[in-house]
Amino acid sequence: PVVLAIDLGGTKTMASLVQDGKVIETVSIQTDRSGSPQGWLDAIAAATRDWKGSYGAVGIAVTGAVRAGRWRAMNKATLGIEGEFALEIRAAEIFGASVVAANDAQAAAWGEYKASEDRSDLVFITVSTGLGGGIVSNGTLLGGIAGHFGQMRDPDGGSLPLESRVCGPWIAAEAERLGHSGEPRAVFDAAVNGEEWAGVIIDGVARRFARLCCDIQLAIDPARIVIGGGVGLATGFMDRVRAEITALAPPVMPELRAAKLGASAGIVGIADLVLTHKK
Ligand code: ADP
Repeated sequence: PVVLAIDLGGTKTMASLVQDGKVIETVSIQTDRSGSPQGWLDAIAAATRDWKGSYGAVGIAVTGAVRAGRWRAMNKATLGIEGEFALEIRAAEIFGASVVAANDAQAAAWGEYKASEDRSDLVFITVSTGLGGGIVSNGTLLGGIAGHFGQMRDPDGGSLPLESRVCGPWIAAEAERLGHSGEPRAVFDAAVNGEEWAGVIIDGVARRFARLCCDIQLAIDPARIVIGGGVGLATGFMDRVRAEITALAPPVMPELRAAKLGASAGIVGIADLVLTHKK
């Protein structure tokens, strides 16, 4: 069966046709952050109009909390959703097929788990517009808000959640505050080129992220922590995180791996969840 798989993030939205775990075709559009759930679904429907009739089911992975097919914002700074949105019901009306919805990082965790031969426990963390994650334990994807690491407290951040200072927009804001271009990719380039201001910004993110990885290791002791997201996979980020981990906690050594599926982890994961109806 062919599945229309959608990954709706705070910056971009991807939609793919997936068959037997293989991505056949993909379109990518900007997520209009000033928009609304109905508007985002309409935009995806317009971008995938030509595919109508070629898929039998739809999977949609979204940033935020999904319970029983209903969608709520966890952090309105990532995507603003007022109250609760009946995501599975509304998407089924728009796409004319049955819909399974899940959190985007949980879907990505499942995609990475299925893409690997390794059946030991896995934690996936994405650093992107926000900070999300998912947990696969004993072969099961944990649902609800399990893995919403971005909403954990930042020990140095007062009442702020961890993701407010471990995400692309924070890197951009810091760079601008220091009088530089507010494009995270440019900040990473500058850090790679040895520019000190940029190294300080990235190291700050890497240090907070390293602490999170050690805390996760202590809580769950996964065989591996898989990293994804535009910032998580940015040049040099994982190396800096490893260096911070080494400096932090010698007996606690998380095994970090880059996401095998890269940016398609959520797409592949939600497509599989549709077939197994596991949420
Ligand atoms: P989403 O949050 O929509 O799932 P991404 O995972 O691409 O999307 O994360 C978007 C964030 O990652 C943005 O802040 C963007 O600037 C940043 N980003 C994307 N690609 C890169 C890159 N190559 N290097 C550094 N930052 C990146």
